[in-house]
Amino acid sequence: MNVLIIGGVACGPKAAARIHRLQPDTRITLIEKGELLSYAGCGIPYYISGQIRDIKELMKTNAGILRDSHYFQNFKGVTVRNLTVATRIDPQRKEVEIFDIGTMDRERLSYDKLVIATGGQPIQPDIPGRDLKGVYTLHNLTNAKKLREQMQQGAKRAVIIGGGAIGIEIAEAFTHNDLETHLVEAKDQVMAKALDREMCAMVTEYLNIDEVNLHLNSRVVGFEGDEEGHLRRVLLEEGSIEAEIAIIAIGTRPNAQLAAEAGLAIGASGAIQVNEHLQTSDPDIYAGGDCVENLHRITGKPVYIPMGDTANKHGRVIANHLCGYAQGSRFPGVLGTGIYKYGDLSIGHSGLTERQARADGYACDAILYPGLDKPEFCATARRIDMKLIFEQSSRRLLGVQLVGEGDVSKRLDVLATAMSLDATLDQLSNLDLGYAPPYSPALDNVISAANISLNKLDGISHAVSPVQLWKSIQAGEDLLVVDVRTQREFAAERMDLPQLRSIPLSRLLGALESIPRDKPVITLCKVGLRGYEACQLLRGKGFANAFYLEGGLAMWSHPKTREPL
Ligand code: FAD
Repeated sequence: MNVLIIGGVACGPKAAARIHRLQPDTRITLIEKGELLSYAGCGIPYYISGQIRDIKELMKTNAGILRDSHYFQNFKGVTVRNLTVATRIDPQRKEVEIFDIGTMDRERLSYDKLVIATGGQPIQPDIPGRDLKGVYTLHNLTNAKKLREQMQQGAKRAVIIGGGAIGIEIAEAFTHNDLETHLVEAKDQVMAKALDREMCAMVTEYLNIDEVNLHLNSRVVGFEGDEEGHLRRVLLEEGSIEAEIAIIAIGTRPNAQLAAEAGLAIGASGAIQVNEHLQTSDPDIYAGGDCVENLHRITGKPVYIPMGDTANKHGRVIANHLCGYAQGSRFPGVLGTGIYKYGDLSIGHSGLTERQARADGYACDAILYPGLDKPEFCATARRIDMKLIFEQSSRRLLGVQLVGEGDVSKRLDVLATAMSLDATLDQLSNLDLGYAPPYSPALDNVISAANISLNKLDGISHAVSPVQLWKSIQAGEDLLVVDVRTQREFAAERMDLPQLRSIPLSRLLGALESIPRDKPVITLCKVGLRGYEACQLLRGKGFANAFYLEGGLAMWSHPKTREPL
Protein backbone atom coordinates (compact mmCIF):
# COMPACT_ATOMS: atom_id res chain seq x y z
CA MET A 1 0.00 0.00 0.00
CA ASN A 2 1.14 3.49 -0.81
CA VAL A 3 0.21 6.11 1.82
CA LEU A 4 0.76 9.82 1.44
CA ILE A 5 0.55 12.07 4.49
CA ILE A 6 0.37 15.86 4.29
CA GLY A 7 1.56 17.63 7.45
CA GLY A 8 4.49 16.67 9.64
CA VAL A 9 3.93 17.89 13.21
CA ALA A 10 1.57 15.87 15.43
CA CYS A 11 -1.19 13.96 13.65
CA GLY A 12 0.82 13.23 10.47
CA PRO A 13 3.92 11.70 12.12
CA LYS A 14 1.77 9.81 14.64
CA ALA A 15 -0.23 8.22 11.83
CA ALA A 16 2.98 7.46 9.90
CA ALA A 17 4.71 5.81 12.86
CA ARG A 18 1.70 3.62 13.71
CA ILE A 19 1.09 2.57 10.10
CA HIS A 20 4.74 1.51 9.91
CA ARG A 21 4.36 -0.52 13.12
CA LEU A 22 1.15 -2.22 11.98
CA GLN A 23 2.13 -2.78 8.36
CA PRO A 24 5.89 -2.40 7.90
CA ASP A 25 5.59 -3.05 4.13
CA THR A 26 3.54 0.08 3.55
CA ARG A 27 5.24 2.79 1.49
CA ILE A 28 4.76 5.98 3.53
CA THR A 29 5.67 9.46 2.31
CA LEU A 30 5.26 12.48 4.55
CA ILE A 31 5.02 15.92 2.96
CA GLU A 32 5.78 18.96 5.12
CA LYS A 33 6.11 22.49 3.90
CA GLY A 34 8.27 23.56 6.85
CA GLU A 35 11.77 22.38 7.58
CA LEU A 36 11.13 20.94 11.04
CA LEU A 37 9.16 17.85 11.84
CA SER A 38 7.31 16.35 14.74
CA TYR A 39 8.09 19.02 17.29
CA ALA A 40 6.25 19.74 20.53
CA GLY A 41 4.53 23.04 19.71
CA CYS A 42 2.92 22.87 23.16
CA GLY A 43 6.40 23.39 24.63
CA ILE A 44 6.82 26.77 22.89
CA PRO A 45 5.75 28.88 25.93
CA TYR A 46 8.37 27.10 28.07
CA TYR A 47 11.09 27.72 25.50
CA ILE A 48 10.11 31.40 25.37
CA SER A 49 10.24 31.63 29.16
CA GLY A 50 13.77 30.17 29.10
CA GLN A 51 12.81 27.04 31.07
CA ILE A 52 13.74 25.01 27.99
CA ARG A 53 17.10 26.34 26.85
CA ASP A 54 17.67 24.59 23.53
CA ILE A 55 14.88 24.58 20.97
CA LYS A 56 16.06 21.16 19.75
CA GLU A 57 14.74 19.70 23.03
CA LEU A 58 11.25 20.19 21.58
CA MET A 59 12.17 17.95 18.65
CA LYS A 60 13.68 15.01 20.51
CA THR A 61 12.26 11.64 21.47
CA ASN A 62 12.28 10.59 25.13
CA ALA A 63 15.49 8.71 24.29
CA GLY A 64 17.07 12.00 23.20
CA ILE A 65 17.04 11.25 19.45
CA LEU A 66 16.32 14.22 17.16
CA ARG A 67 13.13 13.60 15.16
CA ASP A 68 14.48 14.81 11.81
CA SER A 69 14.05 13.29 8.34
CA HIS A 70 16.86 10.76 8.97
CA TYR A 71 15.12 9.59 12.13
CA PHE A 72 11.85 9.10 10.28
CA GLN A 73 13.58 7.26 7.45
CA ASN A 74 15.76 5.05 9.65
CA PHE A 75 13.49 4.36 12.63
CA LYS A 76 10.02 4.69 11.14
CA GLY A 77 10.48 3.70 7.50
CA VAL A 78 8.95 6.98 6.37
CA THR A 79 10.20 9.00 3.41
CA VAL A 80 10.10 12.66 4.36
CA ARG A 81 9.68 15.44 1.81
CA ASN A 82 10.11 18.52 3.95
CA LEU A 83 10.25 22.07 2.54
CA THR A 84 7.64 20.72 0.16
CA VAL A 85 4.10 22.05 -0.22
CA ALA A 86 1.12 19.95 -1.25
CA THR A 87 -0.64 22.30 -3.67
CA ARG A 88 -3.52 20.18 -4.99
CA ILE A 89 -5.31 16.94 -4.32
CA ASP A 90 -6.86 15.07 -7.24
CA PRO A 91 -9.20 12.48 -5.64
CA GLN A 92 -10.27 11.04 -9.03
CA ARG A 93 -6.71 10.17 -10.09
CA LYS A 94 -5.61 9.63 -6.49
CA GLU A 95 -2.73 12.04 -6.86
CA VAL A 96 -1.29 14.94 -4.93
CA GLU A 97 0.57 17.74 -6.67
CA ILE A 98 3.59 18.95 -4.70
CA PHE A 99 5.96 21.90 -4.98
CA ASP A 100 9.55 21.58 -3.72
CA ILE A 101 10.51 24.93 -2.17
CA GLY A 102 14.26 24.19 -2.58
CA THR A 103 14.38 23.03 -6.21
CA MET A 104 11.18 24.86 -7.29
CA ASP A 105 10.12 21.62 -8.98
CA ARG A 106 6.49 20.49 -9.27
CA GLU A 107 5.63 16.82 -9.15
CA ARG A 108 2.64 14.51 -8.80
CA LEU A 109 2.64 11.72 -6.25
CA SER A 110 0.07 8.96 -6.37
CA TYR A 111 -1.55 7.35 -3.33
CA ASP A 112 -3.76 4.45 -2.33
CA LYS A 113 -4.68 6.22 0.89
CA LEU A 114 -4.14 9.88 1.73
CA VAL A 115 -3.96 11.46 5.20
CA ILE A 116 -4.53 15.20 5.50
CA ALA A 117 -2.91 16.53 8.68
CA THR A 118 -2.43 20.13 7.64
CA GLY A 119 -3.22 21.53 11.08
CA GLY A 120 -4.37 25.05 11.72
CA GLN A 121 -2.97 28.52 11.67
CA PRO A 122 -3.29 31.52 13.96
CA ILE A 123 -6.16 33.86 13.18
CA GLN A 124 -4.70 37.16 12.05
CA PRO A 125 -6.66 40.35 12.63
CA ASP A 126 -6.95 42.47 9.52
CA ILE A 127 -5.24 45.55 10.96
CA PRO A 128 -2.35 47.75 9.78
CA GLY A 129 1.23 47.07 10.86
CA ARG A 130 0.86 43.30 11.19
CA ASP A 131 4.08 42.72 9.25
CA LEU A 132 6.31 44.83 11.49
CA LYS A 133 9.32 43.14 13.07
CA GLY A 134 8.37 42.28 16.62
CA VAL A 135 4.78 41.27 15.83
CA TYR A 136 4.48 37.50 16.19
CA THR A 137 2.10 34.61 16.06
CA LEU A 138 3.34 31.56 17.90
CA HIS A 139 2.55 28.40 16.06
CA ASN A 140 5.97 27.33 14.90
CA LEU A 141 9.49 27.06 16.25
CA THR A 142 10.94 29.59 13.80
CA ASN A 143 8.83 32.40 15.27
CA ALA A 144 9.48 31.16 18.80
CA LYS A 145 13.23 31.33 18.15
CA LYS A 146 13.04 34.86 16.75
CA LEU A 147 10.99 36.00 19.75
CA ARG A 148 13.39 34.42 22.25
CA GLU A 149 16.32 36.13 20.51
CA GLN A 150 14.56 39.50 20.68
CA MET A 151 13.94 38.99 24.39
CA GLN A 152 17.60 38.09 24.93
CA GLN A 153 18.63 41.24 23.05
CA GLY A 154 16.92 43.29 25.76
CA ALA A 155 13.31 43.92 24.70
CA LYS A 156 11.52 45.52 27.63
CA ARG A 157 7.81 45.75 26.85
CA ALA A 158 5.38 43.29 25.34
CA VAL A 159 1.71 43.23 24.44
CA ILE A 160 -0.24 39.98 24.19
CA ILE A 161 -3.41 40.16 22.14
CA GLY A 162 -5.87 37.52 23.34
CA GLY A 163 -6.53 36.27 26.86
CA GLY A 164 -6.99 32.60 25.99
CA ALA A 165 -4.78 29.73 27.07
CA ILE A 166 -1.80 30.64 24.86
CA GLY A 167 -2.04 34.31 25.89
CA ILE A 168 -1.96 33.34 29.57
CA GLU A 169 0.98 30.94 29.11
CA ILE A 170 2.96 33.57 27.20
CA ALA A 171 2.15 36.19 29.87
CA GLU A 172 3.89 33.94 32.38
CA ALA A 173 6.89 33.57 30.06
CA PHE A 174 7.17 37.37 29.78
CA THR A 175 6.75 38.24 33.46
CA HIS A 176 9.23 35.45 34.28
CA ASN A 177 11.70 37.39 32.13
CA ASP A 178 10.83 40.77 33.73
CA LEU A 179 9.18 42.23 30.65
CA GLU A 180 6.54 44.89 31.21
CA THR A 181 3.55 42.83 30.05
CA HIS A 182 0.17 43.99 28.76
CA LEU A 183 -2.66 41.63 27.91
CA VAL A 184 -5.41 42.97 25.67
CA GLU A 185 -8.70 41.04 25.61
CA ALA A 186 -11.84 42.00 23.70
CA LYS A 187 -14.16 40.27 26.20
CA ASP A 188 -14.69 41.32 29.81
CA GLN A 189 -12.70 38.37 31.22
CA VAL A 190 -9.76 36.17 30.27
CA MET A 191 -10.22 32.50 29.27
CA ALA A 192 -13.89 33.11 28.47
CA LYS A 193 -14.26 29.94 26.37
CA ALA A 194 -13.03 27.73 29.19
CA LEU A 195 -14.06 29.37 32.45
CA ASP A 196 -17.18 30.99 33.81
CA ARG A 197 -16.61 34.41 35.24
CA GLU A 198 -16.35 33.47 38.90
CA MET A 199 -13.74 30.79 38.16
CA CYS A 200 -11.66 33.31 36.30
CA ALA A 201 -11.31 35.42 39.45
CA MET A 202 -8.23 33.64 40.77
CA VAL A 203 -6.51 33.75 37.38
CA THR A 204 -7.09 37.50 37.24
CA GLU A 205 -5.75 37.84 40.78
CA TYR A 206 -2.53 36.05 39.78
CA LEU A 207 -2.13 38.20 36.69
CA ASN A 208 -2.55 41.29 38.87
CA ILE A 209 0.01 40.05 41.40
CA ASP A 210 2.53 39.66 38.58
CA GLU A 211 1.66 43.16 37.41
CA VAL A 212 0.33 41.99 34.07
CA ASN A 213 -1.56 45.04 32.80
CA LEU A 214 -4.99 43.75 31.85
CA HIS A 215 -6.89 45.66 29.17
CA LEU A 216 -10.34 44.00 29.17
CA ASN A 217 -13.15 45.06 26.81
CA SER A 218 -10.39 46.39 24.62
CA ARG A 219 -9.39 45.84 21.00
CA VAL A 220 -6.13 46.32 19.14
CA VAL A 221 -6.65 48.36 15.96
CA GLY A 222 -3.11 48.57 14.61
CA PHE A 223 0.65 48.51 15.12
CA GLU A 224 3.04 51.45 14.62
CA GLY A 225 6.72 51.01 13.83
CA ASP A 226 9.90 53.04 13.33
CA GLU A 227 11.66 53.77 10.02
CA GLU A 228 13.40 50.39 10.14
CA GLY A 229 10.11 48.54 10.42
CA HIS A 230 10.41 47.61 14.12
CA LEU A 231 7.30 47.66 16.28
CA ARG A 232 7.16 50.66 18.60
CA ARG A 233 3.50 51.06 19.62
CA VAL A 234 0.34 48.96 19.76
CA LEU A 235 -2.76 50.99 19.01
CA LEU A 236 -5.98 50.26 20.91
CA GLU A 237 -9.48 51.59 20.19
CA GLU A 238 -8.76 53.92 23.06
CA GLY A 239 -5.12 54.82 23.65
CA SER A 240 -1.93 52.98 22.81
CA ILE A 241 0.83 50.94 24.47
CA GLU A 242 4.57 51.40 23.83
CA ALA A 243 6.07 47.99 23.10
CA GLU A 244 8.75 46.24 21.06
CA ILE A 245 6.99 42.88 21.08
CA ALA A 246 3.38 41.99 20.26
CA ILE A 247 1.98 38.46 20.24
CA ILE A 248 -1.22 37.75 18.36
CA ALA A 249 -2.99 34.86 20.12
CA ILE A 250 -6.66 35.26 19.22
CA GLY A 251 -7.35 31.73 18.10
CA THR A 252 -6.67 29.10 15.46
CA ARG A 253 -8.42 28.42 12.21
CA PRO A 254 -8.23 25.13 10.31
CA ASN A 255 -6.04 24.67 7.23
CA ALA A 256 -8.87 23.16 5.21
CA GLN A 257 -8.42 24.91 1.88
CA LEU A 258 -6.61 22.05 0.15
CA ALA A 259 -9.44 19.69 1.18
CA ALA A 260 -12.13 22.18 0.18
CA GLU A 261 -10.55 22.67 -3.26
CA ALA A 262 -10.54 18.88 -3.72
CA GLY A 263 -14.29 18.88 -3.14
CA LEU A 264 -14.18 17.25 0.32
CA ALA A 265 -16.99 18.15 2.73
CA ILE A 266 -16.27 21.06 5.05
CA GLY A 267 -18.24 21.62 8.26
CA ALA A 268 -19.91 24.77 9.54
CA SER A 269 -16.83 25.51 11.65
CA GLY A 270 -14.73 25.75 8.48
CA ALA A 271 -12.84 22.56 9.38
CA ILE A 272 -12.87 19.29 7.42
CA GLN A 273 -15.81 16.97 8.16
CA VAL A 274 -14.84 13.44 9.11
CA ASN A 275 -16.66 10.32 10.28
CA GLU A 276 -15.81 8.34 13.42
CA HIS A 277 -12.94 6.61 11.56
CA LEU A 278 -11.64 10.05 10.55
CA GLN A 279 -12.45 9.43 6.89
CA THR A 280 -13.43 12.50 4.92
CA SER A 281 -16.30 12.47 2.42
CA ASP A 282 -13.87 10.46 0.23
CA PRO A 283 -13.28 7.15 2.07
CA ASP A 284 -9.71 6.88 0.74
CA ILE A 285 -8.81 10.23 2.25
CA TYR A 286 -8.46 10.54 6.00
CA ALA A 287 -8.01 13.78 7.92
CA GLY A 288 -7.06 14.46 11.54
CA GLY A 289 -5.66 16.99 13.99
CA ASP A 290 -6.25 20.73 13.91
CA CYS A 291 -7.69 20.70 10.37
CA VAL A 292 -10.84 18.71 11.30
CA GLU A 293 -13.91 19.25 13.41
CA ASN A 294 -14.89 16.81 16.17
CA LEU A 295 -18.13 15.80 17.79
CA HIS A 296 -18.56 17.21 21.27
CA ARG A 297 -19.10 14.30 23.65
CA ILE A 298 -21.67 16.19 25.74
CA THR A 299 -23.74 17.95 23.09
CA GLY A 300 -23.12 15.56 20.18
CA LYS A 301 -22.65 18.61 17.96
CA PRO A 302 -19.67 19.32 15.71
CA VAL A 303 -17.10 21.64 17.28
CA TYR A 304 -13.70 23.01 16.38
CA ILE A 305 -11.39 22.51 19.37
CA PRO A 306 -7.81 22.12 18.12
CA MET A 307 -5.62 20.33 20.68
CA GLY A 308 -2.29 18.51 20.52
CA ASP A 309 -3.42 15.40 22.39
CA THR A 310 -6.44 15.05 20.10
CA ALA A 311 -4.19 15.33 17.03
CA ASN A 312 -2.07 12.44 18.32
CA LYS A 313 -5.13 10.29 19.08
CA HIS A 314 -6.44 11.02 15.59
CA GLY A 315 -3.14 9.82 14.11
CA ARG A 316 -3.49 6.47 15.87
CA VAL A 317 -7.16 5.98 14.95
CA ILE A 318 -6.41 6.81 11.32
CA ALA A 319 -3.56 4.28 11.23
CA ASN A 320 -5.69 1.56 12.84
CA HIS A 321 -8.56 1.99 10.41
CA LEU A 322 -6.35 2.46 7.39
CA CYS A 323 -4.52 -0.79 8.22
CA GLY A 324 -7.81 -2.66 8.65
CA TYR A 325 -7.84 -2.98 12.42
CA ALA A 326 -11.38 -2.80 13.79
CA GLN A 327 -10.14 -2.33 17.35
CA GLY A 328 -9.25 1.28 18.10
CA SER A 329 -10.51 2.55 14.78
CA ARG A 330 -13.27 4.80 16.15
CA PHE A 331 -12.79 8.27 17.60
CA PRO A 332 -15.61 9.11 20.03
CA GLY A 333 -15.24 12.90 20.04
CA VAL A 334 -13.90 15.44 22.48
CA LEU A 335 -14.79 17.11 25.75
CA GLY A 336 -12.44 20.02 25.08
CA THR A 337 -10.39 19.20 28.16
CA GLY A 338 -7.47 21.56 28.75
CA ILE A 339 -4.96 22.36 31.47
CA TYR A 340 -2.66 25.36 31.69
CA LYS A 341 -0.08 26.70 34.09
CA TYR A 342 0.43 30.24 35.22
CA GLY A 343 3.20 30.39 37.83
CA ASP A 344 2.06 28.22 40.74
CA LEU A 345 -1.51 28.28 39.49
CA SER A 346 -3.02 25.44 37.45
CA ILE A 347 -6.13 26.02 35.40
CA GLY A 348 -8.15 23.03 34.16
CA HIS A 349 -11.48 22.62 32.42
CA SER A 350 -13.51 20.02 30.58
CA GLY A 351 -16.95 19.88 28.97
CA LEU A 352 -19.30 22.84 28.88
CA THR A 353 -19.15 26.02 30.91
CA GLU A 354 -22.37 26.94 32.73
CA ARG A 355 -22.81 29.75 30.24
CA GLN A 356 -22.53 27.33 27.30
CA ALA A 357 -24.75 24.70 28.96
CA ARG A 358 -27.54 27.21 29.58
CA ALA A 359 -27.18 28.64 26.07
CA ASP A 360 -27.53 25.08 24.74
CA GLY A 361 -30.80 24.70 26.65
CA TYR A 362 -29.68 22.25 29.36
CA ALA A 363 -31.73 22.29 32.58
CA CYS A 364 -28.65 22.42 34.74
CA ASP A 365 -27.31 23.58 38.05
CA ALA A 366 -23.79 24.19 39.34
CA ILE A 367 -21.82 24.22 42.57
CA LEU A 368 -18.70 26.05 43.70
CA TYR A 369 -16.33 24.27 46.03
CA PRO A 370 -13.04 25.68 47.27
CA GLY A 371 -11.07 22.98 49.11
CA LEU A 372 -7.56 21.91 50.05
CA ASP A 373 -6.02 19.13 47.99
CA LYS A 374 -4.64 17.43 51.13
CA PRO A 375 -5.53 17.50 54.82
CA GLU A 376 -4.80 20.87 56.44
CA PHE A 377 -2.05 19.31 58.60
CA CYS A 378 0.03 18.58 55.49
CA ALA A 379 2.49 21.39 54.86
CA THR A 380 2.07 20.91 51.10
CA ALA A 381 -1.74 21.28 51.16
CA ARG A 382 -2.89 23.83 48.57
CA ARG A 383 -6.28 25.15 47.57
CA ILE A 384 -8.28 24.16 44.51
CA ASP A 385 -11.43 26.05 43.54
CA MET A 386 -13.82 23.77 41.69
CA LYS A 387 -17.00 24.31 39.77
CA LEU A 388 -19.15 21.39 38.66
CA ILE A 389 -22.00 21.90 36.20
CA PHE A 390 -24.54 19.05 36.09
CA GLU A 391 -27.75 18.19 34.32
CA GLN A 392 -30.68 17.89 36.71
CA SER A 393 -32.56 15.08 34.96
CA SER A 394 -29.70 12.72 34.12
CA ARG A 395 -27.56 13.59 37.20
CA ARG A 396 -24.54 13.66 34.87
CA LEU A 397 -21.72 16.17 34.71
CA LEU A 398 -21.87 18.64 31.84
CA GLY A 399 -18.66 20.45 32.66
CA VAL A 400 -15.97 21.09 35.25
CA GLN A 401 -13.58 23.94 35.99
CA LEU A 402 -10.67 23.89 38.42
CA VAL A 403 -8.29 26.66 39.40
CA GLY A 404 -5.70 26.60 42.15
CA GLU A 405 -2.22 25.93 43.42
CA GLY A 406 -3.14 22.39 44.43
CA ASP A 407 -2.98 19.24 42.29
CA VAL A 408 -5.55 20.28 39.70
CA SER A 409 -4.36 17.86 37.05
CA LYS A 410 -5.27 14.71 39.03
CA ARG A 411 -8.81 15.98 39.77
CA LEU A 412 -9.35 17.22 36.26
CA ASP A 413 -8.36 13.86 34.81
CA VAL A 414 -10.65 11.93 37.17
CA LEU A 415 -13.55 14.21 36.27
CA ALA A 416 -12.83 14.08 32.53
CA THR A 417 -12.65 10.28 32.76
CA ALA A 418 -15.96 10.21 34.60
CA MET A 419 -17.54 12.43 31.96
CA SER A 420 -16.13 10.28 29.15
CA LEU A 421 -17.70 7.20 30.73
CA ASP A 422 -21.02 8.98 31.34
CA ALA A 423 -20.73 8.56 35.10
CA THR A 424 -23.47 10.07 37.26
CA LEU A 425 -22.77 12.21 40.33
CA ASP A 426 -23.90 9.23 42.41
CA GLN A 427 -21.19 7.07 40.86
CA LEU A 428 -18.58 9.81 41.31
CA SER A 429 -19.52 10.08 44.98
CA ASN A 430 -18.39 6.51 45.63
CA LEU A 431 -15.32 6.26 43.43
CA ASP A 432 -12.68 4.13 45.07
CA LEU A 433 -9.76 6.55 44.83
CA GLY A 434 -6.38 6.18 46.50
CA TYR A 435 -6.14 7.95 49.83
CA ALA A 436 -3.25 8.79 52.11
CA PRO A 437 -2.66 12.25 53.61
CA PRO A 438 0.34 13.17 51.40
CA TYR A 439 -1.94 12.78 48.36
CA SER A 440 -5.49 13.81 49.19
CA PRO A 441 -8.09 14.38 51.89
CA ALA A 442 -9.96 11.23 53.03
CA LEU A 443 -12.76 12.32 50.75
CA ASP A 444 -10.99 13.59 47.68
CA ASN A 445 -12.00 17.01 46.32
CA VAL A 446 -13.74 15.25 43.42
CA ILE A 447 -15.90 13.21 45.80
CA SER A 448 -16.68 16.18 48.06
CA ALA A 449 -17.68 18.23 45.01
CA ALA A 450 -19.94 15.39 43.82
CA ASN A 451 -21.53 15.17 47.29
CA ILE A 452 -22.13 18.92 47.42
CA SER A 453 -23.76 18.68 43.98
CA LEU A 454 -25.95 15.76 45.09
CA ASN A 455 -27.07 17.63 48.21
CA LYS A 456 -28.10 20.56 46.05
CA LEU A 457 -29.70 18.41 43.38
CA ASP A 458 -31.73 16.40 45.89
CA GLY A 459 -32.91 19.46 47.80
CA ILE A 460 -30.98 18.49 50.95
CA SER A 461 -28.89 21.65 50.93
CA HIS A 462 -30.14 25.14 50.24
CA ALA A 463 -27.39 27.26 48.78
CA VAL A 464 -27.06 30.68 47.25
CA SER A 465 -24.15 31.47 44.98
CA PRO A 466 -22.07 34.64 45.42
CA VAL A 467 -23.81 36.02 42.30
CA GLN A 468 -27.28 35.40 43.77
CA LEU A 469 -26.39 36.94 47.14
CA TRP A 470 -24.80 39.96 45.55
CA LYS A 471 -27.87 40.47 43.32
CA SER A 472 -30.19 40.36 46.36
CA ILE A 473 -28.01 42.86 48.22
CA GLN A 474 -27.86 45.17 45.19
CA ALA A 475 -31.65 44.94 44.87
CA GLY A 476 -31.93 46.16 48.49
CA GLU A 477 -33.57 42.93 49.67
CA ASP A 478 -34.07 42.80 53.45
CA LEU A 479 -31.87 39.89 54.58
CA LEU A 480 -29.46 38.86 57.29
CA VAL A 481 -25.99 37.40 56.65
CA VAL A 482 -24.67 35.31 59.53
CA ASP A 483 -20.96 34.54 59.62
CA VAL A 484 -20.64 31.32 61.62
CA ARG A 485 -16.85 31.19 61.78
CA THR A 486 -15.03 31.68 65.07
CA GLN A 487 -14.68 35.20 66.42
CA ARG A 488 -10.95 35.08 65.77
CA GLU A 489 -11.54 34.28 62.09
CA PHE A 490 -14.21 36.99 61.95
CA ALA A 491 -11.85 39.57 63.44
CA ALA A 492 -9.15 38.69 60.91
CA GLU A 493 -11.30 38.99 57.76
CA ARG A 494 -14.97 39.53 57.06
CA MET A 495 -17.47 40.76 54.53
CA ASP A 496 -18.03 44.47 54.32
CA LEU A 497 -21.84 44.42 54.61
CA PRO A 498 -24.29 46.24 56.90
CA GLN A 499 -26.44 43.05 56.92
CA LEU A 500 -23.60 41.03 58.48
CA ARG A 501 -23.63 39.47 61.99
CA SER A 502 -21.15 37.18 63.67
CA ILE A 503 -22.63 34.12 65.41
CA PRO A 504 -20.06 31.30 65.67
CA LEU A 505 -21.55 27.90 64.84
CA SER A 506 -20.96 26.67 68.41
CA ARG A 507 -23.28 29.44 69.69
CA LEU A 508 -25.93 29.33 67.01
CA LEU A 509 -28.41 27.21 68.95
CA GLY A 510 -28.32 29.63 71.86
CA ALA A 511 -28.82 32.63 69.59
CA LEU A 512 -31.91 31.46 67.70
CA GLU A 513 -34.18 33.95 69.43
CA SER A 514 -32.15 36.85 68.03
CA ILE A 515 -32.44 35.65 64.43
CA PRO A 516 -35.48 36.98 62.53
CA ARG A 517 -37.78 34.36 61.01
CA ASP A 518 -39.49 36.69 58.57
CA LYS A 519 -36.55 37.34 56.22
CA PRO A 520 -33.90 35.37 54.37
CA VAL A 521 -30.94 34.35 56.52
CA ILE A 522 -27.70 33.51 54.69
CA THR A 523 -25.10 31.60 56.67
CA LEU A 524 -21.48 31.59 55.66
CA CYS A 525 -18.07 30.31 56.72
CA LYS A 526 -14.64 30.00 55.17
CA VAL A 527 -15.39 27.54 52.37
CA GLY A 528 -19.01 26.41 52.83
CA LEU A 529 -19.13 23.40 55.18
CA ARG A 530 -19.90 25.20 58.47
CA GLY A 531 -22.25 27.54 56.59
CA TYR A 532 -24.09 24.46 55.29
CA GLU A 533 -24.25 22.92 58.77
CA ALA A 534 -25.57 26.19 60.22
CA CYS A 535 -28.17 26.40 57.50
CA GLN A 536 -29.32 22.81 58.15
CA LEU A 537 -29.56 23.60 61.85
CA LEU A 538 -31.66 26.69 61.20
CA ARG A 539 -33.94 24.86 58.79
CA GLY A 540 -34.35 22.13 61.39
CA LYS A 541 -35.55 24.81 63.78
CA GLY A 542 -38.09 26.12 61.34
CA PHE A 543 -36.17 28.86 59.53
CA ALA A 544 -37.63 28.11 56.10
CA ASN A 545 -35.76 31.03 54.56
CA ALA A 546 -32.25 29.90 55.57
CA PHE A 547 -29.61 29.42 52.89
CA TYR A 548 -25.83 29.06 52.97
CA LEU A 549 -23.31 30.87 50.84
CA GLU A 550 -21.71 28.44 48.41
CA GLY A 551 -17.92 28.57 48.48
CA GLY A 552 -18.06 30.77 51.60
CA LEU A 553 -15.79 33.72 52.10
CA ALA A 554 -13.12 32.01 49.94
CA MET A 555 -15.19 32.54 46.78
CA TRP A 556 -16.84 35.77 47.92
CA SER A 557 -13.51 37.50 48.47
CA HIS A 558 -12.88 37.54 44.71
CA PRO A 559 -15.14 40.42 43.58
CA LYS A 560 -15.45 38.79 40.14
CA THR A 561 -17.31 35.83 41.66
CA ARG A 562 -20.26 38.10 42.33
CA GLU A 563 -20.75 39.18 38.73
CA PRO A 564 -23.38 37.33 36.68
CA LEU A 565 -22.09 34.85 34.06
P1 FAD B 1 0.01 21.27 13.14
O1 FAD B 1 0.82 21.16 14.36
O2 FAD B 1 -0.55 22.60 12.80
O3 FAD B 1 0.89 20.76 11.91
C1 FAD B 1 0.43 20.81 10.61
C2 FAD B 1 1.61 20.86 9.67
O4 FAD B 1 1.12 20.76 8.35
C3 FAD B 1 2.38 22.18 9.74
O5 FAD B 1 3.73 21.94 10.02
C4 FAD B 1 2.22 22.78 8.36
O6 FAD B 1 3.40 23.40 7.90
C5 FAD B 1 1.92 21.55 7.51
N1 FAD B 1 1.16 21.88 6.31
C6 FAD B 1 0.00 22.59 6.25
N2 FAD B 1 -0.41 22.68 4.96
C7 FAD B 1 0.50 22.02 4.21
C8 FAD B 1 0.64 21.78 2.81
N3 FAD B 1 -0.27 22.21 1.96
N4 FAD B 1 1.71 21.08 2.39
C9 FAD B 1 2.62 20.62 3.28
N5 FAD B 1 2.55 20.82 4.59
C10 FAD B 1 1.50 21.50 5.05
N6 FAD B 1 -2.36 21.61 22.57
C11 FAD B 1 -2.55 20.90 23.69
O7 FAD B 1 -3.28 19.89 23.66
N7 FAD B 1 -1.95 21.27 24.87
C12 FAD B 1 -1.13 22.34 24.97
O8 FAD B 1 -0.59 22.63 26.04
C13 FAD B 1 -0.92 23.12 23.81
N8 FAD B 1 -0.11 24.20 23.85
C14 FAD B 1 0.10 24.92 22.71
C15 FAD B 1 0.93 26.04 22.77
C16 FAD B 1 1.17 26.79 21.63
C17 FAD B 1 2.03 28.01 21.70
C18 FAD B 1 0.56 26.40 20.40
C19 FAD B 1 0.80 27.20 19.16
C20 FAD B 1 -0.26 25.30 20.33
C21 FAD B 1 -0.51 24.54 21.49
N9 FAD B 1 -1.33 23.41 21.45
C22 FAD B 1 -1.57 22.71 22.59
C23 FAD B 1 -1.98 22.98 20.20
C24 FAD B 1 -1.17 21.91 19.48
O9 FAD B 1 0.12 22.37 19.25
C25 FAD B 1 -1.86 21.56 18.16
O10 FAD B 1 -3.15 21.12 18.46
C26 FAD B 1 -1.13 20.47 17.39
O11 FAD B 1 0.14 20.90 16.99
C27 FAD B 1 -1.92 20.09 16.14
O12 FAD B 1 -1.22 19.16 15.42
P2 FAD B 1 -1.52 18.90 13.87
O13 FAD B 1 -0.59 17.84 13.42
O14 FAD B 1 -2.96 18.71 13.65
O15 FAD B 1 -1.21 20.28 13.13
